[in-house]
Amino acid sequence: MLIDLTGKTAIVTGSTAGIGFAIAQGLAASGATVIINGRKQESVDSALKQLKEALPKAQVRGVAADLSTSEGLTQLQAAEPKADILVNNLGIYGQKDFFETSDELWQEFFDVNVLSGVRVARAYVPAMVDQGWGRVVFISSESGLNIPSDMIHYGFTKSANLSIARGLAKRLAGTGVTVNAVLPGPTMSEGVAEMLKPMAEEKGISMQEAGDKFVKAKRPSSIIQRIASTEEVANMVVYTCSPQASATTGAALRVEGGIVDSIG
Ligand code: NAD
Repeated sequence: MLIDLTGKTAIVTGSTAGIGFAIAQGLAASGATVIINGRKQESVDSALKQLKEALPKAQVRGVAADLSTSEGLTQLQAAEPKADILVNNLGIYGQKDFFETSDELWQEFFDVNVLSGVRVARAYVPAMVDQGWGRVVFISSESGLNIPSDMIHYGFTKSANLSIARGLAKRLAGTGVTVNAVLPGPTMSEGVAEMLKPMAEEKGISMQEAGDKFVKAKRPSSIIQRIASTEEVANMVVYTCSPQASATTGAALRVEGGIVDSIG
C-alpha cells in the first residue's frame, strides 16, 4: 500500500517535538503540505529546519500559537484558513495526586487537552464537509481507558478525547469526513524523555532502558514490554489520514503495545 497525500494540507497541533513532530514528518513524507504548530516562534522555526533537513522536498509551514486559547485559534486560522487533515495532538501530562490537584490544574488540563481540539475541529471541519473529504484524528492515550491513579486529571481528558472523536464521527455520517482517536501508550517523546532522564542518570542506564523499565514497572500488562517510538505512533496516524482508511471512522485505534487488557 502506497500512501499518497499529495495535494492535501494537514495541520498537526503541538508538533514542534515528540509524537506531533513524528506525525508531521510522516505526513510530509507521504506528500502532504504540513503545518507545524507550537507556542514559540523559535521552536516552530527549529522544527521546520529539522523537517527540511530530513525531507528536503517537504512542503512545510509553521504557526506559533497557543491553542489552549481562543486567541491562538484565531492566529492559526488567519495564517492557515483551510485544512484537509487535522491532527489534534496537543496535550500535556504529569503526575499529581487527586487530593492535591487544584481547580486551576483541572482547568488547565481541560483547556489544553480537550477544548483546544474541540475549537480547532469546529473551525476546520465545516470546509472538509463542503468538499466531501477530510480526516480528523484526536491523539488520546491508553490512559483514557486505563486511568492512572496518579494522573486522574490527565486520564479524564484522554477519555474525553475518545467521546468527542466518537460523537463527531457520528455527527459527520455520510460526509466523507472520518474522525478517529489514536491511543498511544508510553512513547519516547521529548516530554517523556524529560520525565525519564533523572531515572536514567541515577541508575546509569540508557534512555531506552529507562523507558522499558518504566513500562514494566508502571504498565505491567504491556505485551511488548517496552516503550514505543514516536514513529510507531505516527505510522498509525498517517494511515488513518490516508484515502485508504476510508472505512475507518469513530474508532479508537491503539498503539499501546497491548496494555489495555481487552479484545473489545
Ligand atoms: P511532548 O511534550 O513531547 O510535545 C508536546 C508538543 O506540544 C511540543 O511541540 C510543545 O511545544 C507543544 N505544546 C505544548 N503546549 C502547547 C500549547 N498550549 N499550544 C501549542 N503547542 C503546545 O508531548 P508528547 O509526549 O509527544 O505527547 C503528544 C500527545 O500524545 C499528547 O496529547 C499526549 O497526551 C499524547 N500521549 C503521549 C504519550 C507518551 O508517552 N508520550 C502517551 C499517550 C498519549
